[in-house]
Amino acid sequence: MSSVISTDILIVGAGVAGLWLNARLRRLGFATVLVEQATLGGGQSVKSQGIIHGGAKYALHGALTGASEAIADMPRRWREAIAGDGELDLSGVRLLSEAHYLWSPGTLAGNLTSFFASKAVRGRVDQVKGEQLPPALQDKRFKGKVYRLAELVIDVPSLIERLATLAGDGLLAGQTIEPLLENDELVGLRVDGREIRAQRIVLSAGAGNAELLATLGLSQPAMQTRPLHMVLVKGPSLKPLYAHCLGGGPKPRITVTTHPAADGQWVWYLGGDIAEAEGVARTPEAQIATAQKELGNLLPWVDLSQAQWATLRVDRAEPLQSGLSRPDNAFLAEQDRLLVGWPTKLALAPDFADRVLAALERDGIQPSHPAPLPDLPKPPLGVPAWEQLLP
Ligand SMILES: Cc1cc2nc3c(=O)[nH]c(=O)nc-3n(C[C@H](O)[C@H](O)[C@H](O)COP(=O)(O)OP(=O)(O)OC[C@H]3O[C@@H](n4cnc5c(N)ncnc54)[C@H](O)[C@@H]3O)c2cc1C
Repeated sequence: MSSVISTDILIVGAGVAGLWLNARLRRLGFATVLVEQATLGGGQSVKSQGIIHGGAKYALHGALTGASEAIADMPRRWREAIAGDGELDLSGVRLLSEAHYLWSPGTLAGNLTSFFASKAVRGRVDQVKGEQLPPALQDKRFKGKVYRLAELVIDVPSLIERLATLAGDGLLAGQTIEPLLENDELVGLRVDGREIRAQRIVLSAGAGNAELLATLGLSQPAMQTRPLHMVLVKGPSLKPLYAHCLGGGPKPRITVTTHPAADGQWVWYLGGDIAEAEGVARTPEAQIATAQKELGNLLPWVDLSQAQWATLRVDRAEPLQSGLSRPDNAFLAEQDRLLVGWPTKLALAPDFADRVLAALERDGIQPSHPAPLPDLPKPPLGVPAWEQLLP
């Protein structure tokens, strides 16, 4: 029979939310176990574009207000962590770009006036020209305007790898999760038959949270998923580009990030409006044709004749929200020993951890200075989409 484990905090789901939280807890001396059923970061996290938003995107459509300006602090927190002197030591995580850019292909879109007036961007947005332009836009045919935003872009696979290292002996590959009850009270979980007792149980399983809650006989907090149909392009002539291209509507027409493939080529990863509702309705072939047309119009000097194309369907998982999409804070709900949440953005993983830590502090839960765990089966690292789809 598997040994019984006692820990302070048991976390289920090793995407960026669970891994970041786990690393912070361990740094504070808590005993933790982090259970993952598939691969580390392989859900939404390694499929994300890696932009550490500071809120500029939301200011663009006037939705950034008071409380939600918490996101404005995220680039600083990540930058310090990556420099090795923040709340976590993320030295070794690859920074793909020091800045994300806002790129208006023609005349300025009307809503930029309120954007530049908004608190989140004031003093943090500079127009760039000439040699300061992102390499892919340095062409004499380029006519638009480009602004530099104080937002980082990180290489998510290297982040996940670093967070997995910080997880020490606490990672556990586990598929079947059942409640562990004592006098009708949840005191832990049974993972593949192994009892794990904990003072608190955190569900950070992304799209898997709803099913886990159902396993525990709960239906709240309700979850929503929003689909995306992303496009990937790999080619020898691509140069780095990290930018939201504006189209006049509330969402960037296209958001381009650039990622290093194992064979040394660059991969452009295209999201934004092109990947939303209409894009979701398109077949992969039609989606690729649309992206080819968009890039042909926007960047006619880029030679895409040798490029390989693929699309990726992926859902964002979040708490159920009514109405318009808003800039989110991380979300955490609590019920006795159980805490359940979604960071709602990769960038907000630190905010998710803050919320859990605040709940522990409020309840007087102290670190127990952990003893080493037995040798547990470890989940593998998630593989980036471009390595799977464009080998
Ligand atoms: C295409 C795309 C682009 C994005 N771009 C950005 C961006 O540029 N910047 C940004 O800030 N955010 C971005 N996001 C949002 C961001 O990716 C997510 O908010 C974030 O990664 C969610 O992290 P998570 O840890 O909650 O979930 P996930 O990364 O999905 O991790 C959840 C983990 O839980 C595991 N799991 C599920 N069920 C169980 C179970 N029963 N038992 C054990 N484990 C389980 C899964 O296998 C998975 O590993 C993007 C999202 C998408 C889809």
